[in-house]
Amino acid sequence: MSSEIWVVADLKIDGSIRQVTFEALSEAKARLAAKFGGPVCGVLLGANVSSLAGELGKYGAEKVYVVENETLKDFNTEGYTIALSELIKKHQPAVVITGNTVFGQDYFPGVAARVGAGVTMDAIEVDATDDKKLQIKRFSHSSKAIPTKLFLDHYPMMTTVRPNSFKAVEDPKTPEVINEAVTIDPGDIKTKVIEIKAKESDRPELTEADRVGSGGRGLGSEENFKHVYELADILGAAVGATRAAVDAGYCPYDMQVGQTGKAVSPNLYIAIAISGSVQHFAGMGSSKVIVAINKDPEAPIFQKCDYGIVGDLFDVLPPFTARVKSLLSQS
Ligand SMILES: Cc1cc2nc3c(=O)[nH]c(=O)nc-3n(C[C@H](O)[C@H](O)[C@H](O)COP(=O)(O)OP(=O)(O)OC[C@H]3O[C@@H](n4cnc5c(N)ncnc54)[C@H](O)[C@@H]3O)c2cc1C
Repeated sequence: MSSEIWVVADLKIDGSIRQVTFEALSEAKARLAAKFGGPVCGVLLGANVSSLAGELGKYGAEKVYVVENETLKDFNTEGYTIALSELIKKHQPAVVITGNTVFGQDYFPGVAARVGAGVTMDAIEVDATDDKKLQIKRFSHSSKAIPTKLFLDHYPMMTTVRPNSFKAVEDPKTPEVINEAVTIDPGDIKTKVIEIKAKESDRPELTEADRVGSGGRGLGSEENFKHVYELADILGAAVGATRAAVDAGYCPYDMQVGQTGKAVSPNLYIAIAISGSVQHFAGMGSSKVIVAINKDPEAPIFQKCDYGIVGDLFDVLPPFTARVKSLLSQS
């Protein structure tokens, strides 16, 4: 095992690097580099990605491993799994980290299985013991508990990290770029990407947003969701929803927050007409400030929020939104 700490870049559909990659690089530098005594390195997997190495250097990557291969042009589980597994087998890093995004969740466990590594998912804290064992914290039991998990003698130690859990801090370096050729047999790729349709939206992406406005079944209709969109747009926030709201057809599935939806960790989460089920809390419990608007004073969300307004959303939200707009226009 080497002493290197790797952060595998998570790329958006437009080819840019997701913020969670920079957060992970910064946290690896702050918490792990000294303990492992090795450099923090970036890893780029894709078709034309080497030009992104400098961006990883901006957040402290001293080396960047680049695997360019036409089969990696669009994300696919098999190609990414093979590429990263082969890279790990060759260089034996101590720690491998990526974002807990749909991509990371998809292929990281498969890589761990191929290389015989230990893996944890969705860490909100990373650290290491004095004898160089990775130690992470993550939510469990629908966010009611935060266990600390220690890696034992399996290498590398792999984890995905929840977006917005760490601060991205610039620490400019000029990274050494190491181009690696990995053989990927096209026959090993079991699916073919025919078309990617990106959803057009001016709102920030839900999992990365600094602010989220979220609606529940209490909104009553798709039409009434406009109240949530209006507030979100004034705040520059993303919009989420509960499963009950999604199941009722008020909004699409990709807005669902929770155990079977997306995990979010914004600085501000405004829950509108949401009861506060454990399954919903599992996806937003790590939000820094939670504001709830609900007409039922006994709603469980009031046990979990920082600020609560008891009242009918149709009475509360319009003046609330107007007041937020006026305050923001003054600042
Ligand atoms: C295996 C499993 C996985 C699940 N995964 C998820 C998940 O990922 N995400 C998720 O969200 N849920 C999930 N659920 C569903 C979860 O259990 C709840 O049913 C759901 O979260 C409830 O959504 P809700 O709060 O919108 O609806 P409700 O529980 O119906 O609550 C609506 C709330 O709106 C309030 N309200 C109504 N009208 C108004 C008004 N005019 N003004 C103000 N307040 C009003 C009510 O007082 C109530 O508190 C899952 C369930 C299971 C079994």
